Amino acid sequence: MTTWDVCVVGGGPAGSACALRLARLGHRVVLLERRPFPRPHVGEALSPGVRPLLDVLGLPHALGGSLPSRGTLVRWEDTATRLVPPDPRAVTVDRGWFDHALLAAARAAGVSVRQPARAGRPRRGPAGWEVPLRHDVLRARFLVDASGRHRISGGTATATGPRTLALHTAWPGGGPARIGTGPQAWCWGAPLPDGAFRAMAFVDPDLLRRHAFDVARLYHHLLDTTGLFADRPRVLDVAVCDATAYRDDDPVTEDHVKVGEAAFTLDPLTSSGVDSALHSAMAAAVTVHTVLSDGDRAAALAFYRDSRDRTASRHATWTAAHYDRHQRYRDQPFWRRRAAPPPAPPRPLTPADPHRPVRLADEAAVVPTPCPVGDLVTLRRALTHPSLPAPVAHVADTELAPLLDHLDRPRPIADLLHAWSAHLPAHQAEATARWLLSRGLLVTA
Ligand SMILES: Cc1cc2nc3c(=O)[nH]c(=O)nc-3n(C[C@H](O)[C@H](O)[C@H](O)COP(=O)(O)OP(=O)(O)OC[C@H]3O[C@@H](n4cnc5c(N)ncnc54)[C@H](O)[C@@H]3O)c2cc1C
Repeated sequence: MTTWDVCVVGGGPAGSACALRLARLGHRVVLLERRPFPRPHVGEALSPGVRPLLDVLGLPHALGGSLPSRGTLVRWEDTATRLVPPDPRAVTVDRGWFDHALLAAARAAGVSVRQPARAGRPRRGPAGWEVPLRHDVLRARFLVDASGRHRISGGTATATGPRTLALHTAWPGGGPARIGTGPQAWCWGAPLPDGAFRAMAFVDPDLLRRHAFDVARLYHHLLDTTGLFADRPRVLDVAVCDATAYRDDDPVTEDHVKVGEAAFTLDPLTSSGVDSALHSAMAAAVTVHTVLSDGDRAAALAFYRDSRDRTASRHATWTAAHYDRHQRYRDQPFWRRRAAPPPAPPRPLTPADPHRPVRLADEAAVVPTPCPVGDLVTLRRALTHPSLPAPVAHVADTELAPLLDHLDRPRPIADLLHAWSAHLPAHQAEATARWLLSRGLLVTA
C-alpha cells in the first residue's frame, strides 16, 4: 500500500496552495476534499494582498471572472456616508470557481486529488498517519489539516475576539459595496460576479438566541439600522454561520500542521481570510519541506508557530482599533466588547536627531530567528522589537544584523552612516537609519 509523503485534508485555498507548493518541491501529495466543486462558500471579497500571492504561486488566472472593486459606501465612524475609492487590486470572486481553479492547479502540479472524499478523524499508526475514508485508509508521513473551521485533526482553540455570528443571504441585483453600523451589529454587502448581491450582518450570539424564532426578520432589522440597504428585496432564506476569531492552541508538530482556518480565523472586518489562508499555506509548505528534508526541525516549527501568532495578533490589534473608531453606538455592549484603542505610534524622527548619538532602543534585540531562506527554514540573526510585526533580518537585500553590530556603543548618526558605507550604498544606509529612527528602534542616547 502507498505511503504518501503528505496527506492534505481540505481543498479550500489553504489546502490547494499548500499541496501545490509541496508537490512542486518534489513531495508525493494526496489531497482529500469532501465536496464536489464548484461549491458555494462565503468569503468572496479578496483583499489586495491576494493577487501578489497568486502571482508567486503562478496562478494569476485564478482571478479570471472576478469583479473589480468600484469603491465602497462606508458609514462607520458616525452618521456621514463617504465613498471610499476602489483599490484596483481588490476584487470579488465566486468562491466556487476560485477554489475550483486553485484545486485544478494543484492537480496539474502533480497532487493526487480525491474528490468527493470525506476524511474521517486521522490517527497516528505505527508508520505515520492513517486517514480513514469510506472504503479505504490512506497512509502518510505528514498530515496537513486544511479542513477549515471543522479542524478534522481536533485539538483545542482559544478565542481571539468575542463570539460572533454572521447572518447572510444574497439576492439578484447589483448596487455599490457598503459597510454600515447599527447598535447591535455591523453590516457588509457587495455585488458578486454572477450578478447577485450578498449582504451580511455580524452579531453577538445572544441576540440571535433571543430572535431564533424569526432569523430573517432580525436580519432585515439589522440591515435597516445601518440606513444603507433600503434598495433590497425582503429575502427570507437567511443562513447563519460562526464568524468568531480564534487560534488553534497547537498548530504544528513534527508530523502535523494546521493551515488556513484550521490554524486561525480572523474577524471578517479584516476581509483578509483568503489572504491569510494563502500566507499560512506557503509558510506551512516550507515548514513541512524542512521537516521532510531532515532540515532544522525546531527552527521550522518555531517559524510556523511564530508567523501564525504574529498574523493573528496583528489583525486582532487592527480590528479592535477599527471598532474603536466607531462613535455613535460605542456605549452599546456589541461595540464595547470589540473596541480597544490602538497602541501608541512610534516616536517620530525630529530634525535634531541625526546630530545626536544614538543607540538601539531598550526593547530591541538581535536574536537568532527562524526565517525561510529559499525553500527551507533556517536560523538567521534578526531584529525584534514590540513595534515590529515580525523580526526583520534584511533591509532591501542587505543583512541588518551586521549593521546593528556597529551599535555596540552609542554613536552619532554621521559615524554610523560612515561605518555602514562598507556594507551598502549611502542612500540605502540613510534610508535604513531613517526607518529605524521613525519606528523608535534607534533612540537618542
Ligand atoms: C461570514 C464570513 C465572511 C467572510 N468573508 C471573507 C471575505 O470577505 N474575504 C476573505 O478573504 N475571507 C472571508 N472570510 C474567511 C474565508 O472564507 C476563509 O478564511 C477561507 O475560506 C479559509 O480558507 P481555508 O482553505 O482555510 O478553509 P475553507 O475555505 O473553509 O476550506 C476547507 C475545505 O475543507 C473541506 N473539508 C472539511 N472537512 C473535510 C473532511 N473531513 N474531509 C475532506 N474535506 C473536508 C471543506 O469542504 C472545504 O472545502 C469570511 C468568513 C466568514 C465566516
